[in-house]
Parts: sequence; C-alpha cells; structure tokens
Amino acid sequence: PAHVRHHMDRLAAEGIDVVRVSFPDLIGIDRSRDVLLEHLPTACAHGLAFCRAVYHTSPQGDTVPVSGGLDAGLPDVVVTPDLDTLVTLPWEPGVAWCLGDTTDPATGAPAPESPRDLLRSVLANCADAGLHPVVGPELEYFLLEPDPAAPSGWRRHSEVPGAVYTAGLCADPGNHLLRTLRLLRDLNIGVVSGNHEFDGGQYEINLTHSAGLNAADRAFRFKAAIKELARKEGMLATFMAKPRNDAGGSGFHLHLSCDTPEGRNAFADPAAPFGLSDTARHAITGILAHAPALAALHNPTVNSYKRFGPDTLAPWLIDWGLDNRSAMVRIPPERGAGTRLELRLGDAGANPYLAIASVCAAALLGVQNATEPPAPLEGYGYDPEKSQILPRTLGAALDALEADEALTGVLGKDFTASFLAYKRNEVQRFERHVTDWEFAEYAYHL
Ligand code: GLU
Ligand code: MG
Ligand code: MG
Repeated sequence: PAHVRHHMDRLAAEGIDVVRVSFPDLIGIDRSRDVLLEHLPTACAHGLAFCRAVYHTSPQGDTVPVSGGLDAGLPDVVVTPDLDTLVTLPWEPGVAWCLGDTTDPATGAPAPESPRDLLRSVLANCADAGLHPVVGPELEYFLLEPDPAAPSGWRRHSEVPGAVYTAGLCADPGNHLLRTLRLLRDLNIGVVSGNHEFDGGQYEINLTHSAGLNAADRAFRFKAAIKELARKEGMLATFMAKPRNDAGGSGFHLHLSCDTPEGRNAFADPAAPFGLSDTARHAITGILAHAPALAALHNPTVNSYKRFGPDTLAPWLIDWGLDNRSAMVRIPPERGAGTRLELRLGDAGANPYLAIASVCAAALLGVQNATEPPAPLEGYGYDPEKSQILPRTLGAALDALEADEALTGVLGKDFTASFLAYKRNEVQRFERHVTDWEFAEYAYHL
C-alpha cells in the first residue's frame, strides 16, 4: 500500500535498513523483533508472530502460569507495526524503531492482555463522557555501575552523600543527563529537562504532556531507551521502585488534566473552590476512592511497597493537597490552562499503559459519581490520624483491585484476571523465598 511504500522510501533515503518493532507486554517490558526493511511490507500486511506468554519462566527460573502460556501450548500473538510511531534510533545507525499492536490470531481481536489496547478502550470510555485525558509523565531511575565488591554487584553511578536534588555536576560526574537529553531529543518522545534527584545516582527526566495514549507510548519508549543507553555504556539503569536500602525510591508521577472536546482545560474554573472545576474535584474523589485498587497497577511489584513510608516524598496516605508533596494527589500551584493534578502514587517500575489507563478510569468513575472530595490535607502528610493508609503489600493491593468492581468493570474482566493471576504468582514466589535479610537476622543467633 502507498502508506507503507512512502515510509519505506523515506527510511531507505535515510540509510535505514532495519526496523525494530516493539510492543509492551503485560508488565510493560518492551518485546521487539528486528525486521529487514525489504520485509516491512509483509510484516505490515500479515503481522509478526511473537510467543504470547509474558514469562512462562521467571528470571529466577520459577515457572509462572501466565494466561495463554505453556498450558495453552504457548500460542502466538500477531504484532502489526504502527508506522506512524517510526523514529530513527540516534544510537543505532541504520535502525528505525516503531511500536506494534497485538492481535490474537484465534479471534482476530486485540490480545486481551494488551496494555496498549486496554488504554485505548479506557480512553474511548472517557471520550464518550466528553473527557480527553492529558498526561505528563515524570520518571525517576537509578544509574548503577558494576562493582564486584558490592553484594548486589552494582554501585551507584555517583556515591555522593546527602541529598543532591538538582545538584548538578557533583552528582553527575559523567554528564549523563546532558548526553541523554541530547540523544533523546531526536526520539520524538517529548523530553523536556533532566535533573539529579534526591539520592546519589538517581536521576529524573521530565516528558511534556500530551493525550493519554501518546503519553504512555512516550513513557514506555523512554524507559526502554534509558535502559538500552545504560547497557551500551556497561551500566544498569533501573526503574524498580526501591533498588537500594541506602536511598529512597523512584517515582512515576503523573500530571493529569482533561481537555473538553473543544480542547479547553476542563479542570480549570477560577470561580470554583480552589480554582478547580467540578470535573477536576470529582476526578480527585474518584482517584481517592479507587486508590487501594490503583496501587496494584501503579505499584505492581513486591518491592513497590518498600518505597512508601513517612518522610519519603512518596505518599503513604490516601489524600490530596494543594501544592503539598507529602500528599498522594498534589495540586500544583498553576491554574488556567496549566490546571492539573499530580498523582504521586506510582513508582517507576509500573507499566505506563496500565498506570495511565487505571488513573483515567478512576477519574472517569469519579466524574460520573459527581461527589465532592474530602477537605485537602493541611501540612504534614504522614500522620495516619489524618487519612487511610495505602495498601502495605502487593497482595493487599491485588485484593483491593479484585474487590473494586467499578474499576475492574472499566478495565475489563479478562485483563483483570490475567493481571491478578500473574501478580499473585509473583507474591507467592516471593513469600516462599528466603532473603539475605532473614539469614543475617536469624541464622547466627537462632
Ligand atoms: N522519589 C520520590 C518518589 O518516590 C519523589 C521525589 C520528588 O518529589 O521528586 O516519589
Ligand atoms: Mg522527582
Ligand atoms: Mg513530581
């Protein structure tokens, strides 16, 4: 077709001979296949076959019973390149990169656990209600260097003591941020700025805001790119929630507003309480009401819950506040076109598609219910007298997700069942694993 031909000619003229096609799996890992340019028309016409299972064996070698896994004979998903997402890779000469959409060949419909399709369907529900979510992702991560002497095998890229928030070169001796910003500029993912975070070796890069699906695509590609760039330099970039005992965690803050069909910010209303429209206040109520279930998707690992806690700048209570960084939902001080909320719940290990889909679903339910939020938090946000505490473990969050019929109604039964099965198995495997902490704590004394 003309559209494929047009892209092929353009890529060939740029010296591209390989197209990398990636799709996000259930847990947000990029799965990809490299296709020689001359085979792109076939790939677009018939799709590329991938094994559907996320992991039927975990990195630790445990067997994971995923839906459509080994029990079903490890069937295919068919991935169709989305050529509108093509970018050339600045660090891999001759290679262009695009995303793909997954189809279940048995039904011809989107694969039920496909995060990209789940987000599309939630956004379609929002659009039916006249809401067009606009999302700005913020991702924090640690950069680690090999260290044979360290128990984990890794030390932080800069071991600067104390808080080094936006501290500049003393905490970024190799100019990691500067190099990365320039490289990512050409990737079309809306990178705006980067700063050193609170802990040595921890960085944050901000992405601009855009419509929900585009924002998720950009966050997904950002994470894949950062990990790949670090690997090329012999380092490890990790977005896991809390990789170290000697440092804080990494957040995935989401700035959220909604456009009206005419493109006006539906969260802004100078005459309303706090300058926040009914839509905005009701969306906040929805996010608070569904927070325990949202945690399962924004904090999807057993490690996620070690990031929460008093004085962490990650939330601990289910609350909202005006320009208050200790609240779960912070309302940044800007109003007018910049009126938005910042959900600080998520950690960087979350699948961006699932995090964005679930917060949009909760906001939609809130708008449909049209209930006022409680009074905003005043001052210190880590006093458990003030609000309910977030789930303390992944298991508790998964139970909350299962029990939340309204939210799972928007997310879909098939998706919820696959996600719960996969994650409950993870919890079970963790609970049976004897950690180094236990050995050190008990083995010598007991
Ligand atoms: N690292 C904190 C978190 O886990 C956030 C720090 C910040 O506000 O940038 O959410
Ligand atoms: Mg930050
Ligand atoms: Mg933030």
